[in-house]
Amino acid sequence: MTSVPFARPMIGEEEIAEVIAVLKSGWLTTGTRCRQFESDFKTFMGGDVEAIAVNSCTAGLHLALEAIGITEGDEVIVPTHTFTATAEVIRYLNATPVIVDVMPDTLCIDVAAVSRAITPKTKAIIPVHYAGRACDMDALLDLAREKRLKVIEDAAHALPTIYKGTRIGALQSDITVFSFYANKTITTGEGGMIVTRDPALAARCRVMRTHGIDRDAFDRFTAAQERPSWYYEVVAPGFKYNMPDLAAAVGIHQLAKCHLFQEQRAAIAARYMDGLKHLPLDLPPTVADVDMHAWHLFVVQLKTERLSITRNEFIAALSTKGIGTGVHYMPLHDHPYWKNTYGLDRSMFPVSSAAFERIISLPLFPGMRTDEVEAVIRAVTDVCDEHAVKAA
Ligand SMILES: *Cc1c(COP(=O)(O)O)cnc(C)c1O
Repeated sequence: MTSVPFARPMIGEEEIAEVIAVLKSGWLTTGTRCRQFESDFKTFMGGDVEAIAVNSCTAGLHLALEAIGITEGDEVIVPTHTFTATAEVIRYLNATPVIVDVMPDTLCIDVAAVSRAITPKTKAIIPVHYAGRACDMDALLDLAREKRLKVIEDAAHALPTIYKGTRIGALQSDITVFSFYANKTITTGEGGMIVTRDPALAARCRVMRTHGIDRDAFDRFTAAQERPSWYYEVVAPGFKYNMPDLAAAVGIHQLAKCHLFQEQRAAIAARYMDGLKHLPLDLPPTVADVDMHAWHLFVVQLKTERLSITRNEFIAALSTKGIGTGVHYMPLHDHPYWKNTYGLDRSMFPVSSAAFERIISLPLFPGMRTDEVEAVIRAVTDVCDEHAVKAA
């Protein structure tokens, strides 16, 4: 039996050699590799933006909200069908997350629901490009423009996603934040990247990323300047969110392989689409030719009315057959903190609540072998066959 993990990072000799070079260089924290990674990322985005490396996407989302001026009493709209980080950063600033439902097929934020949730206190919207497929950004950006709201894109799943010919990160939103967590489309172990075309927002993120200090440690000790090297000024109570060169060393080489990884993910997704199409499950929506799906996740929705087992039992059955899976996500409104603090219940989020009972994320990662892909298809097929509801 082939045992298949849910995810497996793809680390090559280039990443390993670069990390060793950093270890031997005597400079481990933010420095030349971080600069290089930021510069490469800016080029990847198309050049017309600034890129600021941070130690996680969560940190980047926090800095983004701080930079646009989110403060106590403000409301920020987020989808319920996301990881808790999307909403928790709003609480870091004592602001209020306003949680809304998603679209049935894409599980991306429902723009009509966003529109209904806007109040005089609303300041920003954080769309999540769920699974690596872009949200309806034209409608969302139109609404934001009309209502004078900021848009921060949670692009943790969305490298190298393209929306109507434009790369996510280069759209007309205020700030976009990517994740390089271990199982994301490229990784630095832990890490993230803030992207913005607004120089003032970029400058604020840079300062707040390192304690509110006006220049980072590397500048202080290496750049030629009139002030003594020990001198720095704190201009705000900032955070400790800089990316170390050890992580950036991995990121530089991961980014160089980003398109290769995407092609591999897309090919596996295409094989799943074909191999699973006759089964009692809804397959994820694909994208038009002008778009690119990052395929961070391959999420199927079980037609539970045609199966005699629940989603959890289905996952247990796959696990018995050696197949690792995930559930993305248990919605925010089902978690005790969000539910109890904001008085949420399932009836307020019919789409996400119904989807949650049916979703399973299948293994999908670059370097996944053909026999592994076929083993997943066989296992899912077998579980469906073994637990099909017999026609009366
Ligand atoms: C992974 C993830 C994050 C957080 O990323 P980190 O880099 O781990 O902080 C945020 N939002 C979504 C949707 C994610 O999947």
